[in-house]
Amino acid sequence: MIDRFGRPLEDLRITLTHVCNFQCFFCHMEGEEGMENGLNKDEILLVAKVAKKFGINSVKLTGGEPTLRRDLAEIIQGLKQLGYKDVSMTTNGFLLKDLAPKLKLAGLDRINISLHAVSRETFKKITGVDAFDKVIEGIKEAIDEGLRPVKLNFVVNKRNLAEAFKFIELAQDLGVDEIHLIELHPVGLGKTAFNEHDDLTKIEEYISKIAIKKQIRKKHFRPRYILSSGLVVEVVKPYANPIFCAGCNRIRLSVDGKLKTCLYREDNIIDILDILKANYPKDVKEELLERAFMIAIAIREPNFKYKI
Ligand code: SAM
Repeated sequence: MIDRFGRPLEDLRITLTHVCNFQCFFCHMEGEEGMENGLNKDEILLVAKVAKKFGINSVKLTGGEPTLRRDLAEIIQGLKQLGYKDVSMTTNGFLLKDLAPKLKLAGLDRINISLHAVSRETFKKITGVDAFDKVIEGIKEAIDEGLRPVKLNFVVNKRNLAEAFKFIELAQDLGVDEIHLIELHPVGLGKTAFNEHDDLTKIEEYISKIAIKKQIRKKHFRPRYILSSGLVVEVVKPYANPIFCAGCNRIRLSVDGKLKTCLYREDNIIDILDILKANYPKDVKEELLERAFMIAIAIREPNFKYKI
């Protein structure tokens, strides 16, 4: 399905919970408010089933911290049974050392692990938790389990700016496939943390100098730099960036049962909680959800647009 701005819908991002064991000072909470846990496994899978009918072929699980959902492996298994070829998750990695084998077995294809520091001190300053070493163990386990490509997310801000260059070295030493250097955006706690924002210009200049190749990814038209070591460095700059929005192929399912068409927007949201919780037969729910998806696609629009 293509929206009226010519953007195909291909990716479903599901917030599984708002519960988290870290307290990152900039957390955007996926642009959501409301309850900590809303939908059960069957409700989530029903939405994913309908999404697939609209041509969506990849699912990203997020949170809060998705590994805190006890039914995470069952949800992954259910998504694979629906035929999703690409099921991935973004996690803080705290529980990954123990969980990675179970998630791989359930069918998880690949993983993004947030690591916003290269030292214990900075890690604690950002997440509020002294868990740098534990997350590194989790990353190693994800690599061993073959949850590839293993990608690390690093949200650049004034507390970790001095470590951004060292982060590239650490990623290469660990043997991960890709890193995402992400611009902090003013959503959720990111609004009050925005005084610690950096625009990534210097970092991107440096990376473009040491890269052997540059590509543009179809998703969000993100620039990707390939280093001689093979490490891929993606620079993710969504804020006030019409090019990023023009390449957005994503729709979100929030914890409280809403189809959210944009991280930044409070409007253009379709509330499907009533459909999911109502005492209707499954086929009726499916039909109503199809209509909800059609409306979501019809109203979907880029947050940042070029103005003439
Ligand atoms: N707890 C998981 C984690 O830490 O990856 C999943 C949830 S987290 C909200 C998903 C991703 O959003 C992480 O990579 C995180 O660092 C990033 N993120 C959170 N707040 C952000 C902000 N204000 N600006 C940019 N990225 C942000």
